[in-house]
Formats: sequence, structure tokens, C-alpha cells
Amino acid sequence: MQTQVLGYPRIGSQRELKKANELYWAGKISKDELQQVAQNIRRQNWELQQSSGINLIPSNDFSFYDQVLDWSLTIGAIPKRYQPLQAIEELSQLDLYFAMARGYQKGDLDITAMEMTKWFDTNYHYIVPEFYKGQSFSLTSLKIVEEYKEAKKQGIETKPVILGLVSYLLLGKAKEEDFNVLSLVDSLLPVYVDVIKRLVDEGVEYIQIDEPFLVLDLTVEQKAVITSFYHEIQARFPKLKVILATYFGDLGECTTWALSLPVEVLHLDLIRGEEQLDKILNEVPLSLKLSLGVVDGRNIWKNDYQKSLILVDKAVQKLGSDRVIVATSCSLLHSPFDLASEIKLSSEIKQWLAFAKQKVNEVSELAKLVHIADRESVDYYRDNKLVHTNKRESKLIHNTSVKQRVKGITESDSNRKDTFSIRQPLQHKALELPLFPTTTIGSFPQTTEVRQWRAKFKKGELSAQEYEQLLKEETARAIHWQEEIGLDVLVHGEFERNDMVEYFGEQLEGFAFTQNGWVQSYGSRCVKPPVIYGDVYRSKPLTVFWSAYAQSITSKLVKGMLTGPVTILQWSFVRNDIPRSETCTQIALAIRDEVLDLEKANIQVIQIDEPAIREGLPLRKAEWASYLDWAVRAFRLSAAGVKNETQIHTHMCYSEFNDIIEHIAAMDADVITIECSRSQMDLLDAFAEFNYPNEIGPGVYDIHSPRVPKEEEMLHLIKKAENFIPSKQLWINPDCGLKTRHWDETEKALIAMVHVAKRLRKES
Ligand code: GLN
Ligand code: ZN
Repeated sequence: MQTQVLGYPRIGSQRELKKANELYWAGKISKDELQQVAQNIRRQNWELQQSSGINLIPSNDFSFYDQVLDWSLTIGAIPKRYQPLQAIEELSQLDLYFAMARGYQKGDLDITAMEMTKWFDTNYHYIVPEFYKGQSFSLTSLKIVEEYKEAKKQGIETKPVILGLVSYLLLGKAKEEDFNVLSLVDSLLPVYVDVIKRLVDEGVEYIQIDEPFLVLDLTVEQKAVITSFYHEIQARFPKLKVILATYFGDLGECTTWALSLPVEVLHLDLIRGEEQLDKILNEVPLSLKLSLGVVDGRNIWKNDYQKSLILVDKAVQKLGSDRVIVATSCSLLHSPFDLASEIKLSSEIKQWLAFAKQKVNEVSELAKLVHIADRESVDYYRDNKLVHTNKRESKLIHNTSVKQRVKGITESDSNRKDTFSIRQPLQHKALELPLFPTTTIGSFPQTTEVRQWRAKFKKGELSAQEYEQLLKEETARAIHWQEEIGLDVLVHGEFERNDMVEYFGEQLEGFAFTQNGWVQSYGSRCVKPPVIYGDVYRSKPLTVFWSAYAQSITSKLVKGMLTGPVTILQWSFVRNDIPRSETCTQIALAIRDEVLDLEKANIQVIQIDEPAIREGLPLRKAEWASYLDWAVRAFRLSAAGVKNETQIHTHMCYSEFNDIIEHIAAMDADVITIECSRSQMDLLDAFAEFNYPNEIGPGVYDIHSPRVPKEEEMLHLIKKAENFIPSKQLWINPDCGLKTRHWDETEKALIAMVHVAKRLRKES
């Protein structure tokens, strides 16, 4: 019984690669030193997989920044603007590569980075290839060949991983109008052949070709190109064994066609697409082997051997064990490195978890178990079973009163008392806001001092009292400064928060935090998502203290600031024993209680941030409606308990709204603030077309840059916004929170922004 891993995390168990990359970018270590760190990581990863008994170990899954960018460099898809860099002698190919990822500014050269976007529905971001009409390609980097040889030198046979030709093209962006990226197939194919030939010449037996697009709905044309690509590869390299890897979903209507492709192995993600197995087993041709992705590459739960073996046994019965491979569902890139480095997690929770290193072991144990008739006699099988029994019954996970409360939710719980048209005049009367009210999105600069206080407090170098006092002073400064410059709705500044999800997770029941559960988000940036392990509830108020304090020192309105249920869910590792929608509803109830407590504490404006609502959309459009239904309902449930006079805001960033505008409207927030300035207000088009009835604050300046916007620019944007949205519905605010900015630029920008609002009021 063979085993395979589709890819392994490459940031290193202690984020060595992140640190080394950043040192290299700062000019503090040499290229050779950086290469050494990379080599160590690769060697450790390969050795680990080999010693766990994995047969098909990936190579070329390592990347300094991103595997899609690696591929762009391999096949020579280097946008023209980087040409000047290729002429500079002291710049290596690695420097060119980093310039493509991060941009290049030196001397008179100022070259922008390539765009970055989310890798399917993960939180990993890849560098988007750029395509032009008539573009030519040529083999430019031999990384893939070198890594294969490097492993071989260490006595480890690997399967190089490449991105399928059509998937690669579809991941990219056509930079010219009226041109179909598939028209580049003919010029790109010879480079694929060239790469593969070099691998075959080195003795490669297996290659893994990733085709994640097979889990999306493909057009007839796309399918035809894929078909001929695999026929071409088979014709040219008849002895090469191709593993066609699909993941992140089931093959759906692509199934029958995918089974007809001339490859050695078809890999299936059975975590996301368990139901597809039966159909596939009925249709699989004799020539094809199946790789069963039963170990979840995207979550942190220990595999349930009993459950996985039902699937594997079924396949083995039908195909025989030499035609079945046990595998991870997708690359382990999306899992943290090693559970062993978690020493603070409670042992009860820890026993339920598996990170990348443990998952490799699971793959190998599962393969061994297939041949064992008396599984109960195997200790790791019994242990695994026990863990899952106790997990099903654990008091830590299951809370009857939470479950009951969820069951008792009625339709009216997610409806405000009256409609917006009734609420609006009541709110205007209660809040007495001017036309074009000004506000900010919540956070103010998290200065080095603020971060240091938190660090010292966590280390015990500051007492709770001292820490609180410092935060109070910082909050008071922020409040008084906002009063002084004439903002209308103030914020307390979020100085007490490390991160908008972590802060809430840390205070809610049902969440655990890892010390080292880092996952690569993009380049050297890693995130450490909280783990939602149990029924979520709120045992005490979360934010009331700070909001009430801020409100107590000003006669102006202070806006309460909460993270919404969908965003908390989306940016955490979630349970796999109940549907995401149920956890989301539990979080919504906790936030609802918080909203009501804020209202009781005399907070009349409450913002519930949902920046992640759009990124939660399923890959297949057919599944959007059901997701949007529960996601919007959860938001409404969190907000709807308040009286008509209380104004509910929401905030969203980096989103397009065109295709989900009716659902955004269904959230029924009294005010929505959105990131808008970079799109020059074009995002408002969707709101206008829909006749969006509630109030909107389209961001009037980009907070991602230290640049202070000119009044005229903001004025121009608002004038533009008025073409879409009636003035009486408009708010004036920045694009997003200001925590990454410095105070001096923040001060200048907001003073100008308030001034713009005053000018507008005078004019109208
Ligand atoms: N209230 C949060 C802040 O201001 C919102 C952050 C976000 O939208 N990403 O930081
Ligand atoms: Zn934002």
C-alpha cells in the first residue's frame, strides 16, 4: 500500500525561513546563508517523511515566497518591467524573484510588485502570473530539477510537483483586453515538455501535477486543452508516472471526464469531497490508480482512523491495495508544523490535534492498518479510537445550554424591531448627527509603546493595574484628540487588542490558542489562527469596559467595536464535528449578548466588523446561496437585539460587492463602511444599481500607505460617490482601521478629512 504527501510546510518549525528571508531583504545575511537555511528545511522535511515511511515524497514544494511565483520564474513568465533588473550584474535570479514578489525600489528604479491574491478559498496568497498577447516562454529557472537532485543526493527519491498547464494559466490574469489566456497554450507547452524531459533524464519516476481547477466547473474548451496536455505528456514520456492532483473539493461534473485522462494516479480530496468516492469507484478504469486524500491538510484535528478506513477499505476491496494510495487531502502547507512544540495547550485538547508532522504519521499508520485484520490489537488504532470517543463526549466541547439556545432561535431573533425606513429617522433624532457624519473604522496606531506595554504585561513585568492605567491614558488621549479635531462619532482606539479575532477568541469559551501554530499567509507573513474546539459562548462581557470608559470621558458619541461572527469563524481553525454554520450561530449569540450589554452601557452606535464575509464564499457558485444564507443570518442575529434608536454599523474591506450586493443589503446594517478609495469609488456602482437603501461610508483614503491624502482628492472622491449615493446617506471615513499607521500621518489625514466634511456641509 503506497502513501503520499502532496506538499509540506516550508516556513520551518520555528519560522526559520521567515526570519532568514527578512534578514536577507534587510541586507543582513548573504544569499548563501539564506540558501543554507532553505536547504536545512528541505532536508528535514524530506527526512521526516522518509522516516515516517511515506513513499511518494514531494520536492519542489519548497518555496522562498510562493510556489506559483516559482513556476512563473521556471517557465519564464517575467513581466517586461523587470527587464532592467536582469541587466544588473550583481542581482541574482533570487533577487529578481523577490523583486517580482515585493517590488523593487533603488536608485532611479521603482518597479511595482506583481499582484497577490488568495489561493482558492484558503488564507494563503499567491503571486498572480501576468499574461500578454503573444507572450513567449522559456525555461528560466531549474529550481525543480535542482531540488530533485538535492534530495537524491541525500538518498531520497522524490516526486517533483508542478502546476498543471491549464491551472497555471487560469491562476493568472490577462493584462490585455480581448484575449484568452488559453491562447498561450501552444507557446507554453514546449516549456513544460522541456522541464519534464530534464526531470525524466535525471531519473524521475513520478511527478505530481496539481490541477486544483478540476474541482471548479470547467468549460468545454478548458477540458479539451487539459485532455490534450495529458495525452501529449503521455505520448512523449510513456514511462513517466503522472499523479494528477485535485483538491479543495469534489470533481463534480468533471468526474467522468477526469477519470478518462491518461495518467497513472488520480488524487481525490476526500475531506472536501467524500461523497464522490462511490461514483468514482464505479467508473474508474482498470488502468488508473486512486490516491485517497483522507488526512485533512487544512485543519488541525487528529484523523479519525475508523472513519478514514471505511473509505480506504471500500476502495481497496474494489481495486486491490496496489491501486490505492493513502494521502493527505491537499498540501500540508495549510497546517502548522509540529504539535510537539505546543507545551501550553491543555493535554485534553492537545490529544485531539495533529499538525503537519503528525499528519504524515497518520498517513503512514492508515496505510499499515489497511492490511491488518485485527485492528483492535494495534495500539495506535485503539488509542485513536479512544481519543475520538472521548472527544465525542467531552464536557470541554459539548455544552448543553449552548446547544439548546441555538435550537431555540426563532426567525424574529434575526430581525430588527422595525425596518430601516422607520429606524433611520429615530436614529437621526437620537444621535443628532450632521450631514456627512465623520468617523473612523476603529483602531488607532498601535505604537511601539502600546505593543511594549502588552508584551510586558504578558511577561508579568507590568501589573494588570499598571497596564490598564497606561491603556486608559492612551484611550483618553485618543478620545480628546478626536473631540478636538471635530470628528462626529468617536472610537476608543482598540489599544487593548492584539488582533481583531484573537482578542475575542481569548475571551470566549470554546477557543484555544497555540504558541507556535503558524501557517504561511503570504511570503514571509504567517498567521496563527485560534482553534475553535468546543461550543462557543460568552461567560463575561468582552469589550464593555473599554467602550464604557471611553464614553464616560466624552459627551460625544463613542462607537462600540466588535468583530462579527463570520469573520471570527473564517479566521480560525474550525471544528469538524459540527457544520461551520452552527459554530457561526453560536458565535453570533455571544456577540449578540455583547451588543446588548454595550447598549445597556449607553453605547448608541455599535460596529460589527465583517471583513471576511466575502472570502468565506464557497468555490462553487452553486453553493453560494446556502453559505450566504447562514452567514447573513448570523450577522443579523448578532445585531438585531437592539432598539430602533441604536445604530448598527458594519465594516468590510478588500471586497467586491457586485455579485453579493443583495446579501450585503440583507445584513440590514444601518451604516456600512467599506474600503473604496483604491477603486476610486467604483465599488459603489453595485450599491447604486441595487438602490441600496441604508447609509454608506465609502472610504475616502487608503490606509495601507503612509501617504497623507490631499483635501482635494478626498473631495473629488466624495463628489464621485454622490453620483452613486444620495448625499444624505453618505458618511465620511477612511478605508479601514489605522492600527498600522503612525500618529503623525494619521493626525494630518483625519484633520483634512474632517475639514472636507465641513466644506461639503457648507456647500449643501
Ligand atoms: N475595527 C478594525 C480596525 O479598525 C477593523 C479591521 C479590519 O477591517 N480589518 O482595525
Ligand atoms: Zn477593514
